[in-house]
Amino acid sequence: MAECHDQPGVSTFLPERKLVAIVGPPNSGKSTLFNRLTGLRQKVANFPGVTVEHHTGQVKLGPGHDVYVIDLPGIYSLNPRSEDERVTHDVLLGNMAGIPKPDAVMLILDSTSLSRHLVLAAPVLALGLPTLVVLNMSDDLAKRGGTVDLKELSKELGADTLLVSAAKGDGMAEVLEWLDQRSKPSSPPVKRVELPVLGGVPTYRKWAVETSRKGQYHPPAPPIWTRRLDKIFLHPVWGIAIFAVVVLAVFQTIFSGAKPVMDAMQATVDSFGEWLAPHIANVALQSLIVKGVLKGVGSVVVFLPQILILFFFLGILED
Ligand code: GDP
Repeated sequence: MAECHDQPGVSTFLPERKLVAIVGPPNSGKSTLFNRLTGLRQKVANFPGVTVEHHTGQVKLGPGHDVYVIDLPGIYSLNPRSEDERVTHDVLLGNMAGIPKPDAVMLILDSTSLSRHLVLAAPVLALGLPTLVVLNMSDDLAKRGGTVDLKELSKELGADTLLVSAAKGDGMAEVLEWLDQRSKPSSPPVKRVELPVLGGVPTYRKWAVETSRKGQYHPPAPPIWTRRLDKIFLHPVWGIAIFAVVVLAVFQTIFSGAKPVMDAMQATVDSFGEWLAPHIANVALQSLIVKGVLKGVGSVVVFLPQILILFFFLGILED
């Protein structure tokens, strides 16, 4: 049986050794799994020309079977819109300088949010690379009463599928076994199923819901604290009252919190105008700069603190 060993990070990729990419949405447990597989010994580097990081390491599977693993940035789709998505897209297609095209992919999904996370499975599986779909957080899924039929789901996905807990180490033997299979020169061929390759995100979503239904996925109960908070925030009376208080508090903070800074900015612009005016001899030019440009720009800039506070709250609410 193959096992994990501490290995130094990867500086150069030996061509005879296979490379497996770890892909998945943020917080699905990619780094936890990567650390388990590589025994925490890894090399962190930036992709060329961008600030996006990647971690590379080796999984020791026995003489001639060791594989490289690369932990790619968390993504929700493979559309190269954000830098993270572009980097992952380029690596998977073999278009990233200095990194060979991966021989296989481990797609890490959070099993407690499977219907949502499966959206990423369609474009990843459509790449046609040998893929292991790793449903992580099996401990949490079981604790909260969720279930999934791995055999059915695997059939629907046309890919090997495992339920693991990277944090607890459950199911790691099977992951290593899969890697061992993939490390061989003649590894099993990729199964083909029909995937919504051309549909875009709405089609992927529909497919993900349908696929999880066919895979007998029963989502877990929400975490206890979510249920407790829902009871308060979704209450027909208390919920509306809390909403009204929050909205009022946000607006009050925007107006009263920004006022001192706005006053200070207005005073600065005014005093600068007063200081500048005597230095411009031409009356028309003085009027244009002081009363036109300075006053005009000042009256817009002065709202900056309110805008910043508003965006701060929007940022919090978005998270
Ligand atoms: P990444 O963003 O995909 O790299 O995710 P991380 O590896 O950073 O994990 C995100 C969070 O999930 C961390 O708090 C981990 O401790 C937690 N986590 C990872 N794997 C498991 C698991 O199998 N079970 C549970 N309950 N938590 C996990």
